[in-house]
Amino acid sequence: MPDVLAYACDDTASIFHKTTIHLREPGPGEIYFEVKYAGVCHSDIHSARGEWGPKKYPLVPGHEIAGIVTKVGEGVTKYKVGDKVGVGCLTNSCGTCEMCTSGYEQFCTGDEAGLPGALWTYGLDADGNPTAGGYSQGFTVSENFACRIPDEIPFEAAAPLLCAGITTYSPLKRFGAGPGKKVAIVGMGGLGHMAVQIAAAMGAEVSVISHGRSKEEDARRFGATHFYATSEEGTVASLASSFDLIICTVSAANLDYAGLIATLRPLGSFVNVGLPETPLTLPWRSVIGGNRIVAGSNIGGIPETQEMLDFCGEHGIAPQVQIISGEDITEAYNNVVDSKVRYRYVIDTATF
Ligand code: NAP
Ligand code: ZN
Repeated sequence: MPDVLAYACDDTASIFHKTTIHLREPGPGEIYFEVKYAGVCHSDIHSARGEWGPKKYPLVPGHEIAGIVTKVGEGVTKYKVGDKVGVGCLTNSCGTCEMCTSGYEQFCTGDEAGLPGALWTYGLDADGNPTAGGYSQGFTVSENFACRIPDEIPFEAAAPLLCAGITTYSPLKRFGAGPGKKVAIVGMGGLGHMAVQIAAAMGAEVSVISHGRSKEEDARRFGATHFYATSEEGTVASLASSFDLIICTVSAANLDYAGLIATLRPLGSFVNVGLPETPLTLPWRSVIGGNRIVAGSNIGGIPETQEMLDFCGEHGIAPQVQIISGEDITEAYNNVVDSKVRYRYVIDTATF
């Protein structure tokens, strides 16, 4: 297998430079694909900057990956050369534990053959060595951890679905977003703008709670019927007991959680998917008053990821992306943290 070009950073300053990485030939049951596009998720930034704990450098992030299969290993049946595939946060799991067999590979408990649990994209491989993510021109993965990208989805916009799409689709489905349900999306960035489109396509009445007014027009275009800005005094208090379901995608910890949870109707659910570095203080009074549910949600399993891709294809839903080159990654990270991205940067690997 030839070495391929990739972009890496060397420490928590997250300054990216071009490098070459070595990838393995696809073994039995594996495919190799040329990565064409890779999304920049805020989780890449938390990881690269050490906000979720120490990382091994040089680090090649990227877990929103879209590409075209160019080689298949022995016994591969799902894909052939030329197929459009996507890979998200997971690259392998035992396939036999209770979690894997029920479609929750992200919670794999491991097997006796030595796999400790799910293998994460740009985490540690089964042999304990670090792996590279999708800011690269190639990727080798088990065919069971690649998903098919429907032709209806513009290819250059597909990659963010592999994380932003599934991370919002999964809790929206699990908590019953649909006709007759009032759903609020807090934070309209990469995850949030997908949550709005998906919840609207599921038939829910969608509100966006953003920290300013600048995204209002876009929110309505994505399918929201109400828009609220927390920068305007009294906004959160005025929404008390309004929503059946809230999906909170905010990447920062300075939120009025007590106020937001109180915007749920009794029995409503507040699902947090944002993962800032500082833990939140849970306001139990807002939770207990109203029998409300506070939940978390961690990406989604492989069958549900394929289901989400097919759903987006059928409903004409796609991320709104800004295509960037490898040299733009460093600046893109700062822009994401400053909420300047509209709504996902996607790296075109042909620029490497
Ligand atoms: P993003 O594009 O940066 O969006 C985050 C949004 O949060 C921003 O667009 C902004 O929305 C709001 N926000 C940012 N800073 C804020 C502040 N200081 N105060 C209030 N609101 C603020 O990030 P993303 O890629 O969507 O990821 C969001 C979070 O989800 C990250 O923490 C990421 O690590 C996490 N994540 C979790 C999972 C999972 O499985 N649970 C998967 C992927 C990502 P407004 O401008 O609308 O306010
Ligand atoms: Zn992500």
